Amino acid sequence: MFFPALELLRDSEKLDSSLEAFDKLLCAIQNSGYDRRFNPRVYKYFGFRNIYEKDWVYFLDILTLHNFLDKTLELECPNYQRNMCADTQEGNLPLNKEITCPHCFNAVTTAKRDIFLTYGFTNKLADASEGCRDFFRREVRSYQHR
Ligand SMILES: [Zn+2]
Repeated sequence: MFFPALELLRDSEKLDSSLEAFDKLLCAIQNSGYDRRFNPRVYKYFGFRNIYEKDWVYFLDILTLHNFLDKTLELECPNYQRNMCADTQEGNLPLNKEITCPHCFNAVTTAKRDIFLTYGFTNKLADASEGCRDFFRREVRSYQHR
């Protein structure tokens, strides 16, 4: 495994069979320099055909919950797909409102479909090693039992 912390997810029935592929995918993301900002669908770009998107997103959300990843919702201009604003919570984005795009200066009406989801590695993911194993194992178990 490239990311030793992921070994702890082996306890999870739902993720166990996909773990090796997810580990390789995270490694590909990191080695390509996308680790600070990547969209979950990046696996298609890397040609990973054995990824089940629902499990992958679930996996990313578990890592986010434990501060191994930062999750950002970017609101894109519907005209030019450029980021107008971003937040970690959907409720903080100006949805279904008319706003002036800071890039093209058009008045655009924002909608949920204009949200572009991105994740970024935190230092904790890259640094994850033996030291945080027990902590992570405990946390993942408590998450699964919710
Ligand atoms: Zn615009």
